[in-house]
Amino acid sequence: MRIVLLGAPGSGKGTQAKKLTEDKRVPHISTGDMLRAAVAAGTRFGQRAKSIMEAGQLVPDDIMLGIISERLAEADVKDGFILDGFPRTRQQALDLEELLDGLEQPLDAAVLMDVDFDILMKRLTGRRTCSASGKLLNVYFSPQAEIDACLSAGGELIQREDDNEETIGNRLDVYRSQTEPVVEFYRKRGKLKTVDAEGDIDAVYQRLLAAL
Ligand code: AMP
Repeated sequence: MRIVLLGAPGSGKGTQAKKLTEDKRVPHISTGDMLRAAVAAGTRFGQRAKSIMEAGQLVPDDIMLGIISERLAEADVKDGFILDGFPRTRQQALDLEELLDGLEQPLDAAVLMDVDFDILMKRLTGRRTCSASGKLLNVYFSPQAEIDACLSAGGELIQREDDNEETIGNRLDVYRSQTEPVVEFYRKRGKLKTVDAEGDIDAVYQRLLAAL
C-alpha cells in the first residue's frame, strides 16, 4: 500500500493514518511530526522550522523534498507507506511523483479526507494531547470520561503551539491556496479517492478502508 492522505488541517489525517499503520503494518510518515521532532531537538533547522510553523506557513519545497527523499530511502518503506501532510503544494506533488517513478513505486491512491470548514475550526481549536497517555482528545467532541481519565492519571491537556486561532486561520488559508491544487493534481492523474471524514472516528475509518 502506497498512499497519500490529503485534507485540510483538522480533517483527521493523522488520526486515521495511525489506525491504518497499525492494521496494514506500513509506516506512517507525517512530515508535521518529523518537523516537530526537529523543533524539539533544537537544531538550527528546527529553529527555522519553528517560526514558519508557528506562523502557519509552509516550510520551503526544496527542504521538504530533501526530508522526504531521505525518509523514502529507508528500508522500512519497501512494502509501502502512508504519507500524511505531504505533498502540500503542486511542486511537492511533482517532486514526489518523480521520486517514486525513480524508485519504481508509484502511488496507489491519494485519499482526500473531506470535512466541512466549520467543523474543522472546532476540531482544531479543541484539539489537545493528554500528556500522560499521548492520546489525542478534543474538548468539544471527546467523551467527558476520557478527559477525566487523562486528568485523574495526572495528565495535562496540551495544546499544539500552532492550534491557536490566528495560526489556524493562516493554516486554512494556506490549505486553500496551496494544497487544494494538489487535490486537482491527483484527480487529473485518476488517483483521487474522496472519503466523507465527518463524524465518528471508527465510522470514518470504515469508509477509508472501503475507499482503499
Ligand atoms: P501538520 O502536523 O501536518 O499539520 O503540519 C504542521 C506544520 O508543519 C504545517 O503547518 C507546516 O508549517 C509544516 N509542514 C508539514 N508538512 C509540510 C509540507 N509537506 N510542506 C511544508 N510545510 C509542512
